[in-house]
Amino acid sequence: MTDDDFSTTVYYDDDADESYLQSKTVAVLGYGSQGHAHALNLHESGFDVVVGLRESSDSWPVAEEDGLDVATPREAAAQADVVSILVPDTVQPAVFEEIEPALDEGDTVQFAHGFNVHYNQIRPPEDVDVTLVAPKSPGHIVRRNYERDEGTPGLLAVYQDATGEAAQEALAYAKGIGCTRAGVIETTFAEETETDLFGEQAVLCGGVTSLVKQGFETMVDAGYSPEMAYFEVLNELKLIVDLMYEDGLGGMWHSVSYTAEYGGLTRGDRVVDEDVRENMEEILEEVQNGEFAREWILENQAGRPKFDQLVQAEEDHEIEAVGEDLRALFSWSEDDESDEQESEP
Ligand code: NAD
Ligand code: MG
Ligand code: MG
Ligand code: MG
Ligand code: MG
Repeated sequence: MTDDDFSTTVYYDDDADESYLQSKTVAVLGYGSQGHAHALNLHESGFDVVVGLRESSDSWPVAEEDGLDVATPREAAAQADVVSILVPDTVQPAVFEEIEPALDEGDTVQFAHGFNVHYNQIRPPEDVDVTLVAPKSPGHIVRRNYERDEGTPGLLAVYQDATGEAAQEALAYAKGIGCTRAGVIETTFAEETETDLFGEQAVLCGGVTSLVKQGFETMVDAGYSPEMAYFEVLNELKLIVDLMYEDGLGGMWHSVSYTAEYGGLTRGDRVVDEDVRENMEEILEEVQNGEFAREWILENQAGRPKFDQLVQAEEDHEIEAVGEDLRALFSWSEDDESDEQESEP
């Protein structure tokens, strides 16, 4: 099972035995990004699926039209052997409270992100398996790849193994949604949660948007036009990221001019310098010691006042208005991708 090129265990189709899930019923709670993809892929892989939704949910008729059985989360959990919790992380503790009485000994509670278990917001009973199968992609990609006979890389973890079959069953589930076609990496709830939070805060979502805004403001404050600044630091970012995604940093350096390469190699570390590195270490520490989790849980309990304020400030940034106007002018670009995403339930 171990691929010698990796420091960790990677599982593929041949490692997974569907019989561990064959005679069982899977309740997929939630029919959003991950929920619809898991439910449909499992259903088409031949597994018995019931979707769990609130009676008021707009997704209820959608899931039924997609050919799936739908019940309330409590009823779905009562019918199921495996309960896959794919509602938003912030509502999972309340949903878990609702379904906990419907869990039988030997059932499985499964997640696609470890936050609530890792930070003790959900404490499953000792007689159930607790697992994680997390595709490393938004749900619409998980679904699209499956339909094209392609796979989506994923993560697998076992938090609690009451039956002795937790890992095998999770692997069968991962195969059912198409992840073992591409490779499933074994991890832990702690590692998945902490790396996911750090990545999105420091680099992917937080770091990149701050870098873009600082670059934009530096140019606009120096008198350059906002349109030029937008193209230079936001629009072109996609082209650079695509090159790195396809062929690594070297592929990107190879594709840009020697001037860009020399300028980037000499100036990059001056922008993202050792202070930034120290800030990153601090942010990682807040993830590891639970400080970030505590802050976010309290923020939700208070009705998200700070969150709403930050979202508003981001919407009001000049780069957003400039970008909206410019993107309207080149609406031919990337239309397919965004349409597809918006059409998902
Ligand atoms: P989502 O916001 O897209 O979907 C949530 C679904 O839950 C919706 O169908 C909504 O109607 C339903 N729902 C909301 N509140 C509910 C309630 N009280 N009771 C019952 N149903 C309710 O969520 P998502 O992004 O698919 O996230 C689900 C899980 O997958 C999370 O743990 C998330 O961290 C994880 N995950 C997401 C991604 C991603 O790219 N979206 C990737 C990997 C893992
Ligand atoms: Mg049951
Ligand atoms: Mg992630
Ligand atoms: Mg995340
Ligand atoms: Mg340039």
